[in-house]
Amino acid sequence: MGKEKKMSRAKSGLTKVVKLTDNCTKPRNAKISRITPHCIAGKMTAEAALTFFKNSTNSSANYVIGHGGKIGLSVRETDRAWTTSSGKNDNKAITVEISNSAGAPNWPMSEEAVDAFVALTVDICEYYGFKKVVYYEKPMTIAIGEEATEKWITSLDVPKDALLVTLHRWYKNKACPGKWFVKRLPEVVSRINKEIKSTKKEEKPATEKAQSSETKVIVTVSALNVRKGPGVDYPITKVLKNDKEVRTIVDKKKGLASRSSKNMIEWGELKSGAGWIAMKHTKKV
Ligand SMILES: [Zn+2]
Repeated sequence: MGKEKKMSRAKSGLTKVVKLTDNCTKPRNAKISRITPHCIAGKMTAEAALTFFKNSTNSSANYVIGHGGKIGLSVRETDRAWTTSSGKNDNKAITVEISNSAGAPNWPMSEEAVDAFVALTVDICEYYGFKKVVYYEKPMTIAIGEEATEKWITSLDVPKDALLVTLHRWYKNKACPGKWFVKRLPEVVSRINKEIKSTKKEEKPATEKAQSSETKVIVTVSALNVRKGPGVDYPITKVLKNDKEVRTIVDKKKGLASRSSKNMIEWGELKSGAGWIAMKHTKKV
C-alpha cells in the first residue's frame, strides 16, 4: 500500500559499506526494470572492489559484493553505473559486481556472495514493487551487442511486474558473469522468487500478524551451523562465524537438538534462504 508510489532511493538497507565513484551518469534516464549480475574477475572484499571502481576512470557498478558476502555501494540506485557495455541496459538496471572465489575458466563465487545477491535482489523487488524476477536464456542465434540484444528483449514481452535479469555476455563478447554463475542462475532466480512470495503470503491475512511472524535475532555463539532444514539431521549449508549481523527469522519449527539425545528444540529459518539455525544460540533484538 503506497509502495508503488516509491520511485527511488539511494541505496538498499542491506548496504554495509559505501564508497561512491564518479564513474556514473546522474541521474539514470529510465525507470529501474532490470538487474544485471556481473563477476568481478578476482577474489575481492567489498572494500577492495569499491576502491577499484573509485580509482578506475571508466567502470563502476551500483553495488559490489565481496567474497565474504558484504554488500557495498559504488553508484547510487538513482544513477546509471558504467558496467554492462550498454547505456540502454545500465540506465534500466541495477548492476551488481560479485566477487569470484577463483578464476578462469569457470569463475566460481562463494555461497556467501550468492546469498548476498539473493538478499539484495529480494530487497530491490520489495522496494520497487516487483512481484518476481524473470530470466530468459538468450538463444545462440541472437547476435552479441546492444542492438540485437535489446531487440530480442523487446520481443520477450516481459511482464510489467517483473524485474528482468540481463547479462554482460549478451552485450559484449566476454564470459561475464562466468560459466559457474550462469549455471546457477535458474536456481538463484527461483530462490529469489520464493522469498518474494513468502513475504507476500504473510502480508495477506493481517498486517500485524505478518510483522510478528518475523523475528530479529543475533547469534550468541562464535560459530553456528546453518542447516538445510530444522534439525541436526539436516546437512550443514554454511557456518556463521563470529556473526554480528542482525538476522531475520521467517519461520520456526521443532527439530532434533543432537543426534544422540533425540531432544527437540526450536529451529528458525533465515530470511536470506541460507537455511535453519538453532534458536537457543540466538537472542532477540
Ligand atoms: Zn561484466
